Amino acid sequence: MPDSPLDARLSGALGGRTASAFAKAFGVSTVGDLLSHYPRRYARRGELTALAELPLDENVTIVAEVLEVRERPMRARRGSILEVKISDGSGILTLTFFNQSWRSKELRPGSRGIFAGKVTDYRGTRGLNHPDYELFDVELGRGEASVSKWAQQPIPIYPATASVASWQVQKAIGVVLDTLPALADPVPESVRSERQLMSFSRAIDLIHRPEKDSDWRTARDALRFQEAFVLQAALLQQRARLRSRTATTRVAGAGGMLERFDADLPFELTGDQKFVGREITADLASDAPMNRLVQGEVGSGKTLVAVRAMLAVAESGGQSALLAPTEVLAAQHVRSIARVLGPELAARVRPTLITGQMPLADRRKATLAAVSGHASIVVGTHALMSESVEFFDLGLVVVDEQHRFGVEQRESLRQKGHTPPHVLVLTATPIPRTVAMTVFGDLDVSTIAELPAGRVPIESFVVPLAEKPAWGSRIWQRISEELALGRQAFVVCPAIDSTVVEVGDEPDAAEVRDAADAGEAPVARANVTDVLASIRARPEFAGRRVEELHGRMPGELKDQVMRAFAAGDIDVLVATTVIEVGVDVPNASVMVVLDADRFGVSQLHQLRGRVGRGGVPGLCLLVTHAEAESLARERVEAVASTLDGFELAQKDLELRREGDVLGRNQAGGRSSLRLLRVVTDGDLILEAREAAGFVLDADPELESHEALREALERRLDESSRDFLAKN
Ligand code: ADP
Ligand code: MG
Repeated sequence: MPDSPLDARLSGALGGRTASAFAKAFGVSTVGDLLSHYPRRYARRGELTALAELPLDENVTIVAEVLEVRERPMRARRGSILEVKISDGSGILTLTFFNQSWRSKELRPGSRGIFAGKVTDYRGTRGLNHPDYELFDVELGRGEASVSKWAQQPIPIYPATASVASWQVQKAIGVVLDTLPALADPVPESVRSERQLMSFSRAIDLIHRPEKDSDWRTARDALRFQEAFVLQAALLQQRARLRSRTATTRVAGAGGMLERFDADLPFELTGDQKFVGREITADLASDAPMNRLVQGEVGSGKTLVAVRAMLAVAESGGQSALLAPTEVLAAQHVRSIARVLGPELAARVRPTLITGQMPLADRRKATLAAVSGHASIVVGTHALMSESVEFFDLGLVVVDEQHRFGVEQRESLRQKGHTPPHVLVLTATPIPRTVAMTVFGDLDVSTIAELPAGRVPIESFVVPLAEKPAWGSRIWQRISEELALGRQAFVVCPAIDSTVVEVGDEPDAAEVRDAADAGEAPVARANVTDVLASIRARPEFAGRRVEELHGRMPGELKDQVMRAFAAGDIDVLVATTVIEVGVDVPNASVMVVLDADRFGVSQLHQLRGRVGRGGVPGLCLLVTHAEAESLARERVEAVASTLDGFELAQKDLELRREGDVLGRNQAGGRSSLRLLRVVTDGDLILEAREAAGFVLDADPELESHEALREALERRLDESSRDFLAKN
């Protein structure tokens, strides 16, 4: 790679000590890293921060004027205290310095500056002890005009830490910018001029050193577009590279197994199933490897679509591997695939389970069936791919539930075939379009929105204990009524015991923290241990089998409990979100989610998909203490109000923060999304994708787009650095 000024080490530009302080504070190590440490916001010199409302114990940066300076001796010890009162016009804050009386020479009444430190409270007065500060030197003989220009100049406020303050970042960036050569622009001139975007060099300069607000706004627009453009170019190029490999075509013939299967189906495929089925058929018939994501609600018939694809592959002599997220689900898949195929087809394609837990002899038999090619459909967890399982001719990999499956894992799957296998990813988590384009931009996306006819929709209700505390006991009554009908129930809690929270994936944990910070919900959470004990103690559950399931139990025990529940040996399962993905117990008719406001919107939607899976009508009770009209309550109400997963996913996205939506690894590291917001920048992402597509079509290897090529390499480099740092 030719040396770009962006790749230069920071130590060269700032000196080793500063560079390592910055590396420690922000994880930046090159000039490019530092320059993309963008301001969080911009303050005006005249801007008056509401000092009166400063949050205690937080690091703040404020712009203010010195009112008064007083020095007094300390009472108990020798030495002096310098107290400086500063004001922003709305409130007064006291700065305190111990034994630094020399500061009174620069901190004179009337001088203005920017002050940073941790807010303390001393006898009811807010203050900063030993703050960092920088005074504005206005009185350097400038004229009126330049003073007013100066007053207008936005001050960039950077993400800062206790050890590196905002203006230290500003200074360092200034040092770098002063000697920065012109930057080659990853966005081609033609693309920029069409959108009237300024050049990269100018944008980088203005986002850090704006003279007026419009400067940083237009700079940010240009950089945001660049971000979207580089990201989409990376994804499109990745996609093109995959497609340029040669896969084996897999075509089902007339009068073959697939046709037979379709003819014997006891129901009609939905319109969406047919449509997606045709997309997959076309992919399999092409010699470019399929790389497709199928999203659809639980029960929308995705597995059926996958089974049809596997039959097409089997018919042309190839094998399929189906990867499930857990052993229980893998076992469940084998059973349901055998069932849907019927005895005759099942005997021909031999759905075979391979798991780490099976007895050695069985496992040996199963792996033999895979390597010899006798089994056309092999099911397991993704250990199936990493362990010593070999295939005779792997033609298709189906990943059920993409959750823990990133780009790297998909890549490692492709190594398993003699030619790259086709890949089909199934997910029940609806993904809004712009997110799909951003996170899964290397995949083609199909959607099954239509549910099979005759499904009894599940009913959801909020149980608002804040207003109706008496409904609390009605919940248990309701469950026992279902049990009396011979059905089973889930009770979901956000915590395992009074100390361990297990709400699920990180995103929701963050969301929960936010809610807690906002004081929206009580801190105490329903937990499995206590709820289990109290249910067992209730008279209406006498003689019922009530068990627990959570992430702290050993895997084997979890599987055992799940199997017993699936077999109907357990009546009530008190669980955390470990039951979230894919569990299929048609006889479970009711789910109670305690402290439902502790879960994310999409997560609640996923959870309730566990009930009402058979012919029995499903009921979901979302229990919450959150007050009416609070944000927490709103989320729960949203879930109860619709069964449309896409609508909820969009709502969820709006309520969440960006990094949480994308997941750090998936977003491709710190390089990828700095200014871009998938929620609000959907149109921009689309435009950028289109523009990047044009460029790549004309110049697939980017031979005449050196700056873009470099940007892509830099991006990859950063994400692998991130990856290494994480693993
Ligand atoms: P998903 O994998 O999306 O959760 P499945 O493929 O497992 O959905 O289908 C759920 C249930 O609905 C299965 O019992 C399946 O046989 C049945 N099913 C699938 N497609 C249809 C259809 N078009 N009409 C009626 N039932 C269907
Ligand atoms: Mg399924």
